[in-house]
Amino acid sequence: MRRKTARAAYVTDAELDAMRQHVRGSALDKPGVYRMISPGGEVLYVGKSKRIRSRLMSYFRCEFPADKGARMLREASAIDWEYTPSEFAALLQELRLIKKFRPRFNVMMKSDGRHYAFIKLADSAAPKLLVVRAPTLDDSSVYYGPFHGAQRLGEAVRELSDALGLRDCALDHKMVFSDQPELFETPRITPGCIRYEIGKCVGPCCGASSVARYTSRVADARAFLEGRHDGPIESLRESMIVAGELLHFERAASLRDKLQRLQDLREEFTRLRFAVETLSFTYTVKGFEGDDRVYVIRRGLVRAEQQKPKSRKEKSALQQLVQAMFANEPQPAPGVVPTHVIDELMLVSSWFRRHPRELKRTKPLVA
Ligand code: SF4
Repeated sequence: MRRKTARAAYVTDAELDAMRQHVRGSALDKPGVYRMISPGGEVLYVGKSKRIRSRLMSYFRCEFPADKGARMLREASAIDWEYTPSEFAALLQELRLIKKFRPRFNVMMKSDGRHYAFIKLADSAAPKLLVVRAPTLDDSSVYYGPFHGAQRLGEAVRELSDALGLRDCALDHKMVFSDQPELFETPRITPGCIRYEIGKCVGPCCGASSVARYTSRVADARAFLEGRHDGPIESLRESMIVAGELLHFERAASLRDKLQRLQDLREEFTRLRFAVETLSFTYTVKGFEGDDRVYVIRRGLVRAEQQKPKSRKEKSALQQLVQAMFANEPQPAPGVVPTHVIDELMLVSSWFRRHPRELKRTKPLVA
């Protein structure tokens, strides 16, 4: 009997058994990726394994109906799979399929396990910095990160906004710059909030800042986040020294904490940049049954994949490919991780963190 819920059509025991027989009779213990598909054709879940057959058979042994594996299986009417040359290749293919299909069960898992946060420079008349859990692919804002610890990141971003006089009010708050024509047509301008009163915002909402002044503060924020400008740290340090000299110890201590938060932010970002910039090499992966592959990885992104060259001619073709890559690509802005590459960057960096010995199989890219 087929049971129904508001969300899912559960498959029958006979259908479940047919899937089990299909896996048992056809799947091999090779690396690969698999998909669970609903009767309506929805891709419910994408997974990967070093041993596809063992992994798929384990779903049919889930003891508890509430287990994620059991729930997925009861909603699926088909499982398909493809083999890959290695576990690394399976990871990459899994990521690509998840991006393509956005399977419901993968999304549920990801939202549970995602611990990083990003700084967003939100695009608006007066851009502002904020902390978000994930970049939005379809807007024109700039993102920095990923970072660990949203709360700590939020504090550092507040210090940075305060130090540079950037606003932190609602994105749709009306801005009135000192040099915009509307200022003269608007008899009443809303007064700035307390942040303007205490000098922590230059006041782009209340005619206290020109467009150019605010824009230059935003540029300073970008330069700081990209490691080109130490202004906010230097001015906090100077204020701390002055407060100490005036025996304002409480204020000096508070400034020291702010300074520390900004320095931590800067250091974490430097580490990220270092990781991105060092993840550039060719990586030879031993494949299943001799299907060895070479990956050209640049700034944490897999840019090309091909079978390991054997002849001199094939090696020279690979070298030409790398040279063409260097020649044709503009250097990206330092510190800015484009949103569409973040997942792959995280995948590649965590792969080498978990398997440090694999770094021995890499060779630097030579332009
Ligand atoms: S002063 Fe105006 S622009 Fe600045 S944070 Fe306050 S409301 Fe926003």
